[in-house]
Amino acid sequence: MHCKEKIYIYLSFLASIIFLSGCYAPPTFKPITTTVKHPKKEAPYIGSQLDHYFVRDWKYIVIHHSASVSGCAAEFDRFHREKRGWENGLGYHFVIGNGCGSDDGKIEIGGRWINQIDGAHAGVQEYNHSGIGICLVGNFNESYPTAAQMASLSALVEYLQERCRIPSENVIMHRHFRETECPGRNFPYYKLLAKTARW
Ligand SMILES: [Zn+2]
Repeated sequence: MHCKEKIYIYLSFLASIIFLSGCYAPPTFKPITTTVKHPKKEAPYIGSQLDHYFVRDWKYIVIHHSASVSGCAAEFDRFHREKRGWENGLGYHFVIGNGCGSDDGKIEIGGRWINQIDGAHAGVQEYNHSGIGICLVGNFNESYPTAAQMASLSALVEYLQERCRIPSENVIMHRHFRETECPGRNFPYYKLLAKTARW
């Protein structure tokens, strides 16, 4: 018997042992919601980033998706300045990346938060004026927010609620007051509100 054949027989034998012993598991799709990559431990980090900004009165937190596969604050800022003609640029106060265009779960602070000025995200004056706009990169009609995005959003929402005294019933999705699918039908709104969720 050739050496090659011997190796082949040996490998087949090994493979069947592994298979029969149950070690072999076929690759399965793992739902994102069960992955605990970022427990809520980032909350202090968010605080240390945001504590030194003065805050004015805010009544709502409005959640959006970008309805795009990728993106980041700089990209949306450019789009809002050049295509929409908004001199204050980025319409959201915060952008949370999904790993395409910016780091997964990275919170970017927009100029409108730093300067505490009205957002341009709601399409309704009251919510632009009193609503903190947070945009998660992604299209959640077609995919799901990542675990890291949801952990960051959850920590950010918790921080803003406490800092700005916003009750949970005022943490809303764009589609609550506007005819839009935003932030997409797969956005786990009730899980976010449950607070106890781990992502
Ligand atoms: Zn929206």
